[in-house]
Amino acid sequence: MQDKEKIPGCRLGRRTFLKATGVLGVTATGAGLKPGLPNVGVADTKATSGGEIRRSICDMCCLGRCGIEVFVKDGRATRVQPFKDYPNGPICVKGNSILFQLYHPDRLKYPMKRTKPKGSSNAGWQRITWDEALGTIAANLTKIKQKYGAEKVLFYAGDPKDPVRPNLQRLALKFGSPNYGTESSVCHRAIIVAQNLNGAASAGLTPATRALIIWANNSAWSQPRSMGEIFKAKERGVKIIDVDPRIAPTTKLADIHLQPRPGTDGALALGMSRVILHENLYDKEFVLKWTQGFQEFGSYVQQFTPEKVEKITGVPAGKLVAAARLYASNKPTGWLTSASPTVHHWNGCQNHRAISAMTALTGAVPVPGLEPSTPALSFRDITESRTLLPPLRSKRVDLKDFPVWEQFEPEIQINRLPEYVKDGVLRAGLFVGCNYRMWPQDQLYAKAISDMDFTAGADFWLTPTMELMDIVLPAATSLERLGPINIAGRTVFLPQPVVPPIGEARGDMEWMWDLAKHLGMGAEFWNGDVMATIDSQLEPLGLKAADLIKAPKGIVIPPSTTPAGKPGFKTPSGKFEFKSSILEKAGFDGLPTYKEPPEGPIAAPQTAEKFPLIFNTGSREPMYTHSRHRNNPRLRELQPNPKLDINPKDAQARGIKQSEDVIVETPLGRITVKANITNIAQPGVVHVFHGWPQADVNTILPRTFDPITGFPAFKSQLCQVRKA
Ligand code: SF4
Repeated sequence: MQDKEKIPGCRLGRRTFLKATGVLGVTATGAGLKPGLPNVGVADTKATSGGEIRRSICDMCCLGRCGIEVFVKDGRATRVQPFKDYPNGPICVKGNSILFQLYHPDRLKYPMKRTKPKGSSNAGWQRITWDEALGTIAANLTKIKQKYGAEKVLFYAGDPKDPVRPNLQRLALKFGSPNYGTESSVCHRAIIVAQNLNGAASAGLTPATRALIIWANNSAWSQPRSMGEIFKAKERGVKIIDVDPRIAPTTKLADIHLQPRPGTDGALALGMSRVILHENLYDKEFVLKWTQGFQEFGSYVQQFTPEKVEKITGVPAGKLVAAARLYASNKPTGWLTSASPTVHHWNGCQNHRAISAMTALTGAVPVPGLEPSTPALSFRDITESRTLLPPLRSKRVDLKDFPVWEQFEPEIQINRLPEYVKDGVLRAGLFVGCNYRMWPQDQLYAKAISDMDFTAGADFWLTPTMELMDIVLPAATSLERLGPINIAGRTVFLPQPVVPPIGEARGDMEWMWDLAKHLGMGAEFWNGDVMATIDSQLEPLGLKAADLIKAPKGIVIPPSTTPAGKPGFKTPSGKFEFKSSILEKAGFDGLPTYKEPPEGPIAAPQTAEKFPLIFNTGSREPMYTHSRHRNNPRLRELQPNPKLDINPKDAQARGIKQSEDVIVETPLGRITVKANITNIAQPGVVHVFHGWPQADVNTILPRTFDPITGFPAFKSQLCQVRKA
């Protein structure tokens, strides 16, 4: 999702907004629920106001799915609070502001079609029925399929993630297109590729952990739930090493803080590995029995002396040695990271592999199948990608560009969309929650979407991306729709609509299944019956949708234990691969080699003379999820302007004062933001927050992609900052 300054929520003050929408005062009775859906949630508690408490899930960020209790009176939600005793909680400031999203006057309420040609300043949106909208989409996608082939249609999912993705992928595959892609082409998936190349994820924070390395993760702002666990770990004496160029709130819990230059994480991890090996602190049993390429890895890291690493990363040699000792001397060890900071670099995949290899030296990688385990609960995968995707593989648009990604990912790497559209490889698209501004040089992506023969999209808002479509559909929020099934720990919960939908907004599965019927594929989609679909998904858990509807707090399924099986990693060797045979086969270095960021001060010294500051972007703030919520008045009040964090030394050298306008310039252009002078920023490194349409960082970033994963180098560019 994205927003723009013309959204009225940005113009209204919070008080005016409250009055206008009745978020806090009950002013209107909502229309009845859609026929065919259960008649709202089973309310088992009387709210003190005389209304009811109904339970649902928050959709204000992509990872939380925290449980919330919604006070409902006369069909209208009046306030929210955490879902008591639900495993996912408590709720953060965004979750607390969910009603401002639900009742925002600018929500898309009806399907609409464009009446003016693409490229016109005004699309001439005209309200149409759902039947006409879905019929038009089906007719156009079928036309493309018959004329050029089903694979020319792109099925794309943005945020929010879970409700949309499996449904959309099923639609794509049943239609005959393997070209289903998501915003995970720039978020998190590169980490999964790196983990798969090595063999497994490293252990996180467990009750047994004695030393934890937090590498590029500021849970205090991005993962509030994890922060509670880190606090508890600190209290029980776990040693904490924080690796972050910034002094983030999470850093305050660290015993040692390492601040590498962005993009040099791989060198730091290799330097720490060298110390661990030299001081004989590695886990010999694990390394000898369960790894491949250890000798070559050991030889490779010899060059990364603490002094050399200090020169590359800026981390003092003594601190590096102390951190490696503290970590490897306190086994069992763990590693926490977040979705993308380590992989938002040109050498990101290898950097991430290097960190993983360092933790593996300390034995922090559990061997799959070695011990009895308690498998996590899961429901049936409705994508059927395991059987439907292989026969379509040769038609994937990313096959030649990113062959390693393709081996591991059931979704395409979509970052070369402008080229695919230009070459006629993709000609139409169904976009669910897309934001073209997420890509570097985003104007090329807007053009590509606009240039397609036919496009349709679904969203909460008529965003700049939705303005490019031929048809737009109003999406229901989590408080207005049935499902999806939510599993938190051992609790299985089926969110039900707690209030009637705004206008004609519909849940994703509901309208997609209807579209399938228009495409003549109804039989493959339970004839559009959402409840029957959920029954099918729940079958492996021995549950029915009706059981969950009768259980407003969800159903807890006791843990079961799977005995130890044939132990081994999912790599060609069955071992943790310091040296990846898959990468070597694809023509890359098998070892997690370090390479300088091509746009950084060492690789590009001439550019650095003119642009001497490292330009880092992409980290979270507590009140926003990427570009979302700028139109939420409560959240916008907390951070009203685009800003850059700059160290006092760098600000002083440029005569910059707190909160004044500054220009951030790269070789590709400039944007204007407010200066936030803060010690959070390391000297020489500025951080510019993303997601602001009026100061769009992606217009001044290059399309430099990691050759293995295709991820953009958002975090290791060069820039200059000056007074506006
Ligand atoms: S926005 Fe906050 S409350 Fe909502 S799901 Fe995310 S972390 Fe949980």
